[in-house]
Amino acid sequence: MTFDYSIPVVIAGGGAAGAVAALAARDAGADVLLLEQDATPYGTTSMSQGLLCAAGTAAQQQAGIDDDGERLFADIMEKTRGQTDPVLARALAYGSGPALDWLVSAHGLPYTLDQRFKAAFGHSRLRVHGWPGHSGADTLQFLHRRMAERGVDILYQARLVDLLKDETGRVRGITIERPGGERESLGCDSLVLATGGFAGNHDMVRTHIPDAADAHYHGHEGSDGLGIRLGAGVGGALADMGAYQGYGMLTNPQGVTLPPGFILEGGFLVNAHGARFDNETADISAIVHPVLAQPGGKAWIIFDERIEAACAHIHESAQLRELNAARRAADSAELAAAIGADPATLDNALADAWAAHRSGKPDSQGRLWAETPPQGNLRALRVRGALYHTQGGLAIDATGQVLRADGSTLPNLFACGGAARSVSGPSCWGYLPAMGICTAFTLGRLAGMAAARSDLASSSD
Ligand SMILES: Cc1cc2nc3c(=O)[nH]c(=O)nc-3n(C[C@H](O)[C@H](O)[C@H](O)COP(=O)(O)OP(=O)(O)OC[C@H]3O[C@@H](n4cnc5c(N)ncnc54)[C@H](O)[C@@H]3O)c2cc1C
Repeated sequence: MTFDYSIPVVIAGGGAAGAVAALAARDAGADVLLLEQDATPYGTTSMSQGLLCAAGTAAQQQAGIDDDGERLFADIMEKTRGQTDPVLARALAYGSGPALDWLVSAHGLPYTLDQRFKAAFGHSRLRVHGWPGHSGADTLQFLHRRMAERGVDILYQARLVDLLKDETGRVRGITIERPGGERESLGCDSLVLATGGFAGNHDMVRTHIPDAADAHYHGHEGSDGLGIRLGAGVGGALADMGAYQGYGMLTNPQGVTLPPGFILEGGFLVNAHGARFDNETADISAIVHPVLAQPGGKAWIIFDERIEAACAHIHESAQLRELNAARRAADSAELAAAIGADPATLDNALADAWAAHRSGKPDSQGRLWAETPPQGNLRALRVRGALYHTQGGLAIDATGQVLRADGSTLPNLFACGGAARSVSGPSCWGYLPAMGICTAFTLGRLAGMAAARSDLASSSD
């Protein structure tokens, strides 16, 4: 198989996973070409808050947080009820801290520990990191600038459409398509699929995640699953295709993700009648289904001035403030009128939370109230349940190398981020907060480093 030109490492997809893989491969000394189908890189990464969980980081050490890879590994196994690949979980847990520290120290990524994102929803330690005041869109722009500075070649408006393999299963080259429909092929020594997940592909969601098939999708349309299908087409196995992150607090109609801090600081959810329906602190992802089950598939989050102030530093909070999105009221009767709920029912919901807070016992939904429930000047925002991103994909080993169904590795094919199987178990209840970007950064780095290995260079036949 011959090509007009050939590049040692090709990376398809310019989200967080692809960008980090490209930086890692470049740092390892390889010549790298990154392909992104869009004219401007955006991806699901830019829709995110850019937060990632990582264990044993320099920022945690500075803050005196006692955490390490083994603790994150244990949290992953507990959250997934033991139903994830322990080899991958360990690689991710142990690799997350070094990946973030490398991006901070070698590439100047201005991430630090988010000390206001409490250890919750399955994390036993304070380990969510981010860029204060910035979102995932800023993170992605930063990474693309950094790639350009480091000499990564980037081709925008170049969509990977085919993999060209030889009889051994080795990927010899790829075909890309330009916006006008023109196609060209080029050779590569190794290929990293970082094309995101498949939540934007309705047919794939219906096939693999039927319980979320009718949920509103709130991710990037580029997550159409093509990379996953191409990887499967050359022999890659698929794993945990039923895994995904749902979210129960997408504001409606604003379409802004309400940060989990609104719950962790003391907010709670009620339905259109003003009635509580679940323990909001139990599961950041699986709560999507109780929300979808409410009248109209919607709910209201009830909070107060204190909670609003505690979350004011978060980018999305500022967006909602600028939109003047919250309904405001001086007491619960006024708030019930403002949201069309039954005043007695809403009052009961507040009383239930306060009684639990004072007694130290769980409320009617099983929630323990260490935090103070809403009081005084109240606020409400309407929210809906939505599918955010998928967590299943190509089966990979601990270096991001794609596996066949028999467990053997494909010679030179890697996957990371949404294109690869993550560590969230088989469904929506295994997702730990900020695991999407953790997977993108950590597996991106591991896959990029492995793809740059010189022994992957093919002979010139
Ligand atoms: C609203 C929202 C908020 C979120 N917040 C968080 C958060 O705070 N923390 C967290 O950990 N996770 C969060 N997530 C999940 C997180 O954003 C994703 O897990 C992560 O961004 C995936 O990164 P990625 O690089 O794999 O995918 P993407 O960022 O989607 O990048 C994939 C890229 O590949 C391109 N592409 C696709 N197919 C091709 C092709 N055939 N050829 C060339 N290019 C292609 C796409 O255009 C895209 O640019 C959130 C998700 C959503 C929807």
